[in-house]
Amino acid sequence: MRFEIITIFPGFFASIFENGVVRRALAEGLVEVGIHDLRDFTHDRHRTVDDRPFGGGEGMVLKPEPLAEALGSLGIAPRAQRVLEHCTPPQVISASQRVVLLSAQGRPFTQALARELASLDRVALLCGRYEGVDERINELYCDMELSIGDYVLSGGELAAAVVVDATMRLIPGVLGNEASSEFESFGVADADIATDIEGVPRSQHGAGGLLDYPHYTRPAEFGGLRAPDALLNGDHGQIRRWRREQQLRKTLANRPDLLESCALSAEDRNILEAMRAEKSR
Ligand code: SAM
Repeated sequence: MRFEIITIFPGFFASIFENGVVRRALAEGLVEVGIHDLRDFTHDRHRTVDDRPFGGGEGMVLKPEPLAEALGSLGIAPRAQRVLEHCTPPQVISASQRVVLLSAQGRPFTQALARELASLDRVALLCGRYEGVDERINELYCDMELSIGDYVLSGGELAAAVVVDATMRLIPGVLGNEASSEFESFGVADADIATDIEGVPRSQHGAGGLLDYPHYTRPAEFGGLRAPDALLNGDHGQIRRWRREQQLRKTLANRPDLLESCALSAEDRNILEAMRAEKSR
């Protein structure tokens, strides 16, 4: 899989992909990242990429021409030319690539979207700056606008790095242990997990989108706190039950919205009801 990042700050990425899992994935050729300096697609002495907004107001806007030229240099045509209009529904010619605009106005970037992107051959990420990107680039070229959260960053570079990191680790072979990305926060439900879930209890046993449970390591006593007894006696059934209960507890406390779309068993619902009752006492 290949990412193409279009930015006015190519130097931003110099150190960001040089650590841990991402560095290894790049070194092993499992993933490629192309960084493209938007200013290379300008034709004036000052290498101008921005201009004042029509209608007045604060800030500057990234001009459409350099962005269109940068995409063209990557062989990415406007969407209309990528879609066979006569088909119903329209067929995307190159179904295995997406052009993504990083934007605070975009749809939320989630683990499910990361999974979707990880199944593609190529993802182009457009990093906005200033007040953003001329909207015609979005209309003409972009398949989706993605936001990494409900706050405003000063540029799309951090967001692009987040999207690359979260997507890349879902590509087969990138994580040492293939199952790691399935058995963690927002992991898939049991039915979708190819790996054998017997044996050592995993974090997302049948979770289907809950948050991960808390993790502990040696020493068993630290700062006056003991690691939970349920984890110390090697009883897999007990560990599994404790972990499930903790997933439910964390999700209820920090992200109750996730419970709406999770695959919950009758036992899970009983546990949640007891937790809610306990909270309201
Ligand atoms: N005027 C824009 C608004 O109010 O939505 C904010 C522009 S922001 C200062 C500059 C650039 O940062 C955006 O074009 C976008 O590429 C990026 N950006 C800001 N917040 C973001 C977020 N939450 N997710 C993804 N990209 C973001």
